Amino acid sequence: MSTTKPISTAAAKDVEKDASMRQQKAMMAAHYDRLTAAPRTGAKVCATFVPGNLNELIMCFDLVNNLPEVNAIQNGLRRTSGNFVLEAEKIGHSEDVCTYVKSDIGMIAKGNIAPNGEKFPDPDVLLLSYTGCFTFMKWFELLREQYKCETIMLHTPYLGDGKITPNMVEYMVKQLKTEVIPKLERISGVKFDIDRLREYLKKSAKAEEDLVHVLQTAKHRPSPIDAYFGGIYYIGPIFGAFRGTEDAVAYYKFLREEVDERLAQGKGPVTPDGDMGEEKYRLVVEGPPNYTNFRQFWKMFYGEGAVVVASSYTKVGGVYDFGFRHSPDKPLESLAEYCLSVYTNRSLPMRIDMLTNYLEEYQADGLLINSIKSCNSFSAGQLLMMREVEKRTGKPAAFVESDLVDPRYFSAANIKNRLESYFQMIEQRRTAARAVA
Ligand code: SF4
Repeated sequence: MSTTKPISTAAAKDVEKDASMRQQKAMMAAHYDRLTAAPRTGAKVCATFVPGNLNELIMCFDLVNNLPEVNAIQNGLRRTSGNFVLEAEKIGHSEDVCTYVKSDIGMIAKGNIAPNGEKFPDPDVLLLSYTGCFTFMKWFELLREQYKCETIMLHTPYLGDGKITPNMVEYMVKQLKTEVIPKLERISGVKFDIDRLREYLKKSAKAEEDLVHVLQTAKHRPSPIDAYFGGIYYIGPIFGAFRGTEDAVAYYKFLREEVDERLAQGKGPVTPDGDMGEEKYRLVVEGPPNYTNFRQFWKMFYGEGAVVVASSYTKVGGVYDFGFRHSPDKPLESLAEYCLSVYTNRSLPMRIDMLTNYLEEYQADGLLINSIKSCNSFSAGQLLMMREVEKRTGKPAAFVESDLVDPRYFSAANIKNRLESYFQMIEQRRTAARAVA
């Protein structure tokens, strides 16, 4: 039976936010202002994707980055993506296409308006650091047709054998030196300065250190953070336009202090309804969230006392918890290693190892997979992953389905039922374990 707490009308209207969330929101808003001001300021714009983004390099050429996935997420959260997806389908994009792509294409067709109400500038360059998802390539082909601008591709070899080899790094550094940097110099009119890159990378490493600390506080009981729903706020600046900046260093330092304080006070995560109550279930989640019903989805967890202690999605723009940091001492090599190691570039056995490791290290009760209808990059092989993780850990796993930004594929009743049955299953296992002990 559900033990969900009812939300009061006042709480439903006023979303609780901690100070770091407000700071994060202000940073994202400032970035959209900078981006949409580009035609007035004369700044050139580089469109690129979150996994494998080369923000530090982009900044070396005074380019402002525009991330189409982040725009789609914003449209999902604001509930405007549904109409954009329909618009893209009207133009001829099939139902199965990634809905980030359709939200983007539909938004462009409907005037290309940014969340601050101003028009997005056309990009001067499309920089594709290809990291495992074929859709990235097809998406930029569509944008190239639309904008008739230059395209640069950095090819990242897939980690099929589960490891980064010196040859792979060398191959990528060569592309950076002979293709990516010379083209960015020409398009921007700015000469590349490797010391400037080193300075940015130093700042990246600092922010990465603090982010890892924050995510690893979830090893404590109760966890002071939710590493999936809350984690999405935490990764925003570093996966977006801020990695390598002083703003990111300040944000992650502040976030770390804020989370440490919650930890010292023995508090659980902040939710949209305020502090979470008693921590009853600890989960690892695989797969992206649904954004059109984000708060409703989150409430299905915290309303039942479930906290997510680790997730693969918060590693999609960089895996830092196994030790990788951007390095000013080997700047181009570390950009290559970063691209190679992002989650979308990892093989299925690597993903299984990672999830198994999370279940054990974070003392989770089980694994939950949110399978995204239109994201093949995450969804392919998830059932196999689920069985393998269950086999290795002996902990129960469950599977729910939704979509990223297409509201037609969020069935609240179905997901809630499955989650409630899953929590019951965890309870039964606990009771059985106690009986044996
Ligand atoms: S990883 Fe998934 S959501 Fe991202 S572009 Fe590829 S298919 Fe779309």
